[in-house]
Amino acid sequence: MAGAGVKTTCPYCGVGCGIIATPRGDGAVEIAGDPDHPANFGRLCSKGRALGETLSLEGRLLAPRINGAAAGWDAALDLVARRFSEAIRDHGPDSVAFYVSGQLLTEDYYLANKLMKGYIGAANIDTNSRLCMASSVAGHRRGFGSDTVPGCYEDLEQADLVVLTGSNLAWCHPVLFQRLMAARERRGTRIIVIDPRRTASAEQADLHLALRPDGDVALFTGLLRHLLMTGRADPAYAGHLSGLPDIDCSSLPDDAAVAARTGLSVAEVAQFFEEFGASEKVVTVYSQGVNQSVCGTDKVSAILNCHLVTGRIGRPGMGPFSVTGQPNAMGGREVGGLANMLAAHMEIEDGTARERVQRFWSSPVIATRPGLKAVDLFKAISDNKIKALWIMGTNPAVSLPGSDAVVRALRACPFVVVSDVVEETDTTRHAHVLLPAAAWGEKDGTVTNSERRISRQRAFLPLPGAARPDWAIIADVAQRMGFSGFDHAGPAAVFAEHAALSCFENNGLRDFDIGAHAAIDAAGYDNLAPFQWPQPAGAIEGTPRVFAAGGFFTPDRKARLPIPRPVVEKVKNSATYTLNTGRIRDQWHTMTRTGAVPRLMGQFGEPFCEIHPRDARNLGIAPASLVTVRRQEAAIVLRARITDSQRPGEVFVPMHWSDRFAARGRVNALVAEATDPVSGQPGFKATDGIIEAFSAEWHAFAVSVVRPCTEGLDYWALAPVAGGYGLECAGRAPIADWPGFARSLTAADAGAEWTAVFDRANGIVRMAAFAAGRLVAAVFVSREPVEVARTFLAGALGAEMPGAQRFRILAGRGGSDAPADGAILCACQSVGVHRINRAIAAGAATVDAVGAACGAGTGCGSCRSDIQRMITAQAVTVDSIDRVEPLAGHRRPIA
Ligand code: SF4
Repeated sequence: MAGAGVKTTCPYCGVGCGIIATPRGDGAVEIAGDPDHPANFGRLCSKGRALGETLSLEGRLLAPRINGAAAGWDAALDLVARRFSEAIRDHGPDSVAFYVSGQLLTEDYYLANKLMKGYIGAANIDTNSRLCMASSVAGHRRGFGSDTVPGCYEDLEQADLVVLTGSNLAWCHPVLFQRLMAARERRGTRIIVIDPRRTASAEQADLHLALRPDGDVALFTGLLRHLLMTGRADPAYAGHLSGLPDIDCSSLPDDAAVAARTGLSVAEVAQFFEEFGASEKVVTVYSQGVNQSVCGTDKVSAILNCHLVTGRIGRPGMGPFSVTGQPNAMGGREVGGLANMLAAHMEIEDGTARERVQRFWSSPVIATRPGLKAVDLFKAISDNKIKALWIMGTNPAVSLPGSDAVVRALRACPFVVVSDVVEETDTTRHAHVLLPAAAWGEKDGTVTNSERRISRQRAFLPLPGAARPDWAIIADVAQRMGFSGFDHAGPAAVFAEHAALSCFENNGLRDFDIGAHAAIDAAGYDNLAPFQWPQPAGAIEGTPRVFAAGGFFTPDRKARLPIPRPVVEKVKNSATYTLNTGRIRDQWHTMTRTGAVPRLMGQFGEPFCEIHPRDARNLGIAPASLVTVRRQEAAIVLRARITDSQRPGEVFVPMHWSDRFAARGRVNALVAEATDPVSGQPGFKATDGIIEAFSAEWHAFAVSVVRPCTEGLDYWALAPVAGGYGLECAGRAPIADWPGFARSLTAADAGAEWTAVFDRANGIVRMAAFAAGRLVAAVFVSREPVEVARTFLAGALGAEMPGAQRFRILAGRGGSDAPADGAILCACQSVGVHRINRAIAAGAATVDAVGAACGAGTGCGSCRSDIQRMITAQAVTVDSIDRVEPLAGHRRPIA
């Protein structure tokens, strides 16, 4: 029998879409966008729509483990409490640390922070949000005196000009991008994208400024000069600013200097300045391209300054807008999940605030100084300064810069606890104690999205095995360490305490105030509707926008205008390339959830390296060949994707692949540990790296109903497909016994019947295994990257295969009656690039016409810019596209 629909929120990005989850009688869960949720009004992107496919218990951690052996909760929690207490007793409170996550709910985060700062008495709690938006926090605090996002999503719909800088909104925040595109249809919004790459967002822009990495400070300080010199400063708003008269325009870069620093033309710079200056209603959206930089805080200040001097802030259709990567990065900021914050946006350096928080908590101690930020925390672990570490809901062995060093630090740490929902991650394998946490769908709490909107996440599934919610695990450990103050009856009580702290002795002096909910009870919490903070006691509604009338949270209530200096460009060795990293549309973080969904692996099934055609030519890198990217002793191997959307001299590699999915795909192993001096955020977007062709003796593609054996392979990348797995692999050494290789690679049943074709002169091997008349494995080997119809083969896996059909398997493609679909471009409707190209070739000249012909682009809309790109290219012929069908979507450029 089907259950009732439960209103909850998406666990992925910072848009924070509302979802209605409806468990069905057969155990499946129907996922739909919540039409009433103000973040998305019913829309969902490809990741959100596929959430129902991520709820399997396969691979779940369902019981505590101590040194790899199953254990009971009492034993595990006692051990954690004892080892942390002993470390504190023997080495002091700074010898222990928590590394937490923007995936946690606010209630989890609140108790973790309370335990560390108010009871252990140190501030060594940092979050993976440090990797995501710490520079925005630092920039906000430097300019506004508080970590406040001034506007709301509606502003993107009401603006005349939207500037996206360091934000591939189309892929990373797809629903917000769809709202923007719908508004553009209605009111002709101009869109300017500032990004070194021609991203899916840039494809849709009226103007794309492909500036050099880290050119943003020069660009926005130049814009500030332009605004001041052309009379765009708002005299009515000047009274809310401190330092405006002190700005010396002669010290700011003019258009020519900006052009020289950014690599843009003077005309491009002038056009941007003119458009920004002339548009009263302008929103500047920024994200990881701004934040993940060694000058990220300066970039944020440079952006805020332009909005502050023009008074374009906090009013409809205008303002600077930081969009967060994670679903609850904002909630973590609110409770003090960052090592340099206290709680409820109070400052750890402020003695009055410390005394206030300690008094509110009645806690025995309070941290007196900021703790270690993420990168420094793991260095301290390497230096043996941290004796006990608790990681909650994150995978630093993949996600932190210098991730090989992180792995070494985890191995060396005397006591590592990991709370997670997944049993096997690159991090859990280093844990002494594993604690099974409740997953999305099983836990109750709140999250805050990028527009300060607090929404409920609600359980709609029972807790599996021995899994427990994070807040309860933390509270249990705290109590076993002998601390009171952790006896909350449930997440509603935690939230009420958090709300009460936010308004405790606040009196309008702190931005974060949700006092209206301080007395909330369990029933009220169950029914809590999304609201935007601040919502102080007595306020009926939340607050969509702030700062229209000043009221900043500095001592004189005026905003500050720190003028950053553009970074001096490094002199680059001509042999090195600037390595940029980031997200792709259908994957989330380290793929522990999205990597299990075949259709989300359909667009890109392998880690890849985007490289400009000129560089590829110079380096002897052919399309779809393999490349090595290295820095110092770290090296990764990736599939080359040759594209002119990349600037010459720069390459892009996605951040998602871990050791579970590829032999050497962890790009963060290469990223330098250099951080922004103010925010501590690493500079993920600009690492110097060496690129080389990876010469392989042979390449292979395999499908198998069981997980292939990847041991000993020089290169491999694994992706789930509907009936099993797809595997790309390559090797440097010749193989004499291909049948033996194919059997061990695919782990095919010993009784399977093999059919094979060998062309040894040309290095071609094709083998297929059948059991009970069904295809159970196939292996295709070639000296060059393998050209077969991958989606056809994946679709045939497990299917009945009469003898007459088997030649098609060995041919590696369907017949003319089954034209290849190609790599999945539209994940919602499962439409591949070849089908889309056929629709275009048949006359579909618009994205809507393509949608009418084959359904592509009619779901979440995230692929519409890619479809538009294919229409524009026009160069593809049906013959050429049917010749090769990639699983990974990047064997050849789309056009
Ligand atoms: Fe989830 Fe997509 Fe909405 Fe982000 S845009 S919250 S990933 S559905």
